[in-house]
Amino acid sequence: MKSDEDHLSNYRNAGSILKSVKKESKELVISGKKIIDLVEFIENRIIELGGLPAFPCNVSINSVAAHYTPNLNTELILNKGDYVKVDIGCHIDGCIADTAYTIKVDEDEDDLIIASKEALKNAIDVIEPGVKTNYIGKIIEETINDFNFNPIKELCGHGLRPYVLHTGTTIPNYYSNIGFKLKEGDILAIEPFASTKAGRLKTSEEVYIFKYLQDRPLRDPNSKKLSKVIKQNYKTLPFAERWLEKNFNNLKINFSLRNLIKANVIYPYNVLLESEGGLVSQAEESLIITSNGSEVYT
Ligand code: MN
Ligand code: MN
Repeated sequence: MKSDEDHLSNYRNAGSILKSVKKESKELVISGKKIIDLVEFIENRIIELGGLPAFPCNVSINSVAAHYTPNLNTELILNKGDYVKVDIGCHIDGCIADTAYTIKVDEDEDDLIIASKEALKNAIDVIEPGVKTNYIGKIIEETINDFNFNPIKELCGHGLRPYVLHTGTTIPNYYSNIGFKLKEGDILAIEPFASTKAGRLKTSEEVYIFKYLQDRPLRDPNSKKLSKVIKQNYKTLPFAERWLEKNFNNLKINFSLRNLIKANVIYPYNVLLESEGGLVSQAEESLIITSNGSEVYT
């Protein structure tokens, strides 16, 4: 068992990798860029710098709110004016850093982008031991409303634990009746989303990101083999179909993945869309609660 100190340095090192990757990747969010090249750059750079992707790099554009990552053969490119949300995770021995930014391609930051950034900043400003999660949600909601946008209530910040991306702790993006107090040493990601419409979500049929849940009896040998690989390589962290495509192009991955979902071996993170087609921005940082505030480590 690792000591808390070892854990903290792993979190901080994962975060400093993301600081570099964030900065470098922003230069690539330009019109004409292939999304596959953007995510491959980001994930490879994380590895070069000594970390591992904690989840596939998400590139969610315009009214796609979350959970999109391309497959290897995806031809999709970025276009001028697109709101591009880049959500990046890095882990070292399971200690996760999770961060996201939004760029309007080839244009200046506008209010939609500033709204989620300000909401995040205002939330971080009030965080200290004893602050209640619903109060943080209130600050986020009010800030986004001040810009005449709406928060996406179905998405929320979350506690981080080794090899667990979303602990039971949630930090809502709105005022909810129920809240509980944060304490020194808690590690969490805060991630406001702002929408130009009501901020409700609908689930797309499309799914590119999954995570391992449990072993179950499987008949199909390919699915069996794939489930073993998934468990070994990604443990309980999310993975992309794209990551498997690189090593198992002969295994009918898509068929096997669908098999594994049906058998409840893996969980599918379906692509999430703003239900009325509203445009969506996101800002996210990870932080450690300190004795008198917080340390943002991404
Ligand atoms: Mn994230
Ligand atoms: Mn997150």
